[in-house]
Amino acid sequence: MELKYTSTRDNRIRCTASEAILKGLCDDGGLFVPVELPKLPVSLADICTMDYRECAYTVMKEFLTDFTEEELRSCIERAYDEKFDTKDIVPLRQAGGAFYIELFHGKTIAFKDMALSILPHLMTTAAKKNNVKNEIVILTATSGDTGKAALAGFADVEGTRILVFYPKDGVSPIQKLQMVTEKGKNTRVIGVDGNFDDCQTGVKAIFSDKELALRLGKKGYQFSSANSINIGRLVPQIVYYVYAYSRLLKDKVISDGEKVNFVVPTGNFGNILAAYYAKMMGLPVKKLICASNENKVLFDFFRTGEYDRNREFILTSSPSMDILISSNLERLIYHIAGNDPEKNASLMAALKRDGKYEISPFMKEGLTGFEAYYASEKETAEKIGSLYEESGYIIDTHTAVAAAAYDKYLSDTGDETVTLIASTASPFKFAGSVMSAINRNLEEKNEFELAQEISSLGGVKIPPAIEEIKNAEIIHKTECKIDGMMEEVERFLS
Ligand SMILES: *Cc1c(COP(=O)(O)O)cnc(C)c1O
Repeated sequence: MELKYTSTRDNRIRCTASEAILKGLCDDGGLFVPVELPKLPVSLADICTMDYRECAYTVMKEFLTDFTEEELRSCIERAYDEKFDTKDIVPLRQAGGAFYIELFHGKTIAFKDMALSILPHLMTTAAKKNNVKNEIVILTATSGDTGKAALAGFADVEGTRILVFYPKDGVSPIQKLQMVTEKGKNTRVIGVDGNFDDCQTGVKAIFSDKELALRLGKKGYQFSSANSINIGRLVPQIVYYVYAYSRLLKDKVISDGEKVNFVVPTGNFGNILAAYYAKMMGLPVKKLICASNENKVLFDFFRTGEYDRNREFILTSSPSMDILISSNLERLIYHIAGNDPEKNASLMAALKRDGKYEISPFMKEGLTGFEAYYASEKETAEKIGSLYEESGYIIDTHTAVAAAAYDKYLSDTGDETVTLIASTASPFKFAGSVMSAINRNLEEKNEFELAQEISSLGGVKIPPAIEEIKNAEIIHKTECKIDGMMEEVERFLS
């Protein structure tokens, strides 16, 4: 049976998985959602015997039903290969009373690689299937990690070009260096004089500019998105929740059917939404714990039922979570409204108009499987320090937000359920913040010297992603104002 996708704002829309991947965003501004959420096709005991790729195929084929087995397996094999520095692809590490799902073993050492190593293959396959002759132009707004992961994924991929906008003062030094040294001939990287929400809003506006699309279509271009609103990113992220569960089952840490908690450091709500979809597929999950940094708009939403972005945007040490408009939350809103596009559309209109909306008591009931906590900058740093002292394990700032949130959940509930924390970035990527949290006197050291310190303290080799930017040439120097983004797009394509 073919699974169709519809819009969160209009249920008359129907398209295939490959069409949804190509488009990224629906024409009406809504997000693509599967008309029905599939169930896991095999038992968890069966999944225990699979490696990462086989697990990926088993989960993804239920969502991408118009891809042939050969096509999908080929995408998976080209994505999850030696680019990852471990054969397990996603190893688990036990420390301080929880299991860390290490999602950062790909090329750019953040969890974005999990989806962005496969998205270019899904997209070029989808283009072939739909007889698309245009060159695909990937437009991306990044809070730091998506940018480099998308550049790495799409660099020199035939039939594609990629343009990345990042907030020029809102990313870590390593994140910035990773992007501006990108060598791919089909790439461009631009620093925007604004924050991540400005970049994301700008990109969305360019996407929905029909006149521009028409003009570019004549020149042989069409836009698509590598942001986490694309189901081609969401679906690969479901895999590692299923896989992580199966590893614990295989190692007899849990018994078949035993529920676990997942804690997810959250920004745009993509990663935790994938965990929610895994649960809907039948994965035994007790609580999904949504962890925020000081930009705690989601924490407030889960506590009160009101989403309110009218607040100060705070730059934190976990920049990939510095977000006030969590795009993927729209999908959850749609589902908890009973897959109701009118209800969702009216709330999204309110968000656009007033910067806020409030859900009904009926919808609030749909949130019972979630818990929300947040960690301040101080709590985040303290968690990095205490976990290191206790176990020798060094985590990055984003993962630490989740770990600190979990501590608060534990002290509130005493819940003894086995818990997995999504570890979304390597500590090497945020060396400055991580090392100052471990409280060494390192003021004079640069990011590369700090990486050396992390390596010695944690007993982990410096990843190639860090080594390769050390002496790399800076290629991308362009910066623009928020209202200059459109012009940069036209210049890139002229
Ligand atoms: C993107 C990112 C997040 C947030 O993930 P969302 O899917 O946007 O919620 C958390 N941590 C790191 C390191 C990231 O790169």
